[in-house]
Amino acid sequence: MCVVDADGNQLEGPYRPSSETPMHMALMKAMPWVNAIIHTHSPYAVTFAVLGEPIAVVSVEGLKFGASLIYPTDGFITPGSPDTGRAILKAVEKPDAAKNAVLLRNHGLVVMGETIAQTLDLAQSAELTARIYYQARAVGDPIRLTKEQITRASAQYISKKK
Ligand SMILES: [Zn+2]
Repeated sequence: MCVVDADGNQLEGPYRPSSETPMHMALMKAMPWVNAIIHTHSPYAVTFAVLGEPIAVVSVEGLKFGASLIYPTDGFITPGSPDTGRAILKAVEKPDAAKNAVLLRNHGLVVMGETIAQTLDLAQSAELTARIYYQARAVGDPIRLTKEQITRASAQYISKKK
């Protein structure tokens, strides 16, 4: 494992820091509640990243995102670019956006959480949410949850799981 300080300087480990270290630094500095970040190329999430469309939260699997949409960044960003962190922060600032998940256009998914275990769960839930939304769109017109339904249900759902 590679250990870096808050400025991205390597402290420990035989391997060099990830090319996405600047993105991790930018997100952790801007959102102090973020202690863990997971980036995946999970295929259903990437499907929406390629379409440039948000993933709509249409089932209980998505309640932990606490919002109706997981937005993509505005455009494609070269992997490893320092622009990635800024683009993610812009995407989560949208009023109906999940604050803990973003799609990187034509690339992948980024989820952010308080612990590694919780963030891994978010990564799996984002992929399942994307898959359910994809499948529903393939056979019909998904009924979206309202913001109020998501707010009320996520408070109850999450409190029951603790
Ligand atoms: Zn990637």
